[in-house]
Amino acid sequence: MNENREKTLIELFRALDGIYGPNYECKYYPCHFYGQDCTFCYCPFYPCLIYDLGGELILTEDGYIWSCKGCNWVHEKENAEEIIYRLGSYPKQRLVEEDWFFFSRVLQEMIYGRELGVWVGSSYNLMPAILRGKECEEVENIEFLAVTLEDFEIVDVRRISNVEDADSEIIIPLKIGGELYGIDNSGRKVMCKL
Ligand code: SF4
Repeated sequence: MNENREKTLIELFRALDGIYGPNYECKYYPCHFYGQDCTFCYCPFYPCLIYDLGGELILTEDGYIWSCKGCNWVHEKENAEEIIYRLGSYPKQRLVEEDWFFFSRVLQEMIYGRELGVWVGSSYNLMPAILRGKECEEVENIEFLAVTLEDFEIVDVRRISNVEDADSEIIIPLKIGGELYGIDNSGRKVMCKL
């Protein structure tokens, strides 16, 4: 297990044991907004790959990372409490053993009411979740992203133009500014407003 995931699980178990809320003693407080809930400084859903919550892929010297700088969602008190409620219904050992897809499913159930991502062969298409309900228009010749995760870490990101070209990857829209490029539920190539 990588070091960050280990820290994430330690923090999650502290929360499940009742240690949560704002951390006024942290030298970075408030890193998102005053009054924020710091229970999940290490988010259990990381990297969620869901732009709706404010996160995004950024390219650094060390490769792509999922930046959560713009996500306030996990720091809202009621959301932190619901995460504790939902993840608290599973045995801790299971939370240690479960993979990214399990945590994505829990997160999708929280924010969309149900899992909207779908398996396409060995790949997992998150576009139906991310593009749902957005204002979209049909466009030509788009590309979107195929992300490879290993142990909750992004190890590769590549552009593809057909869902079928993904190979054991997670498929998400390409984000350029406030626009998302991908394939909608009807199979149309679309540009949607985030
Ligand atoms: S964007 Fe928010 S919900 Fe997603 S991984 Fe980052 S902190 Fe967690």
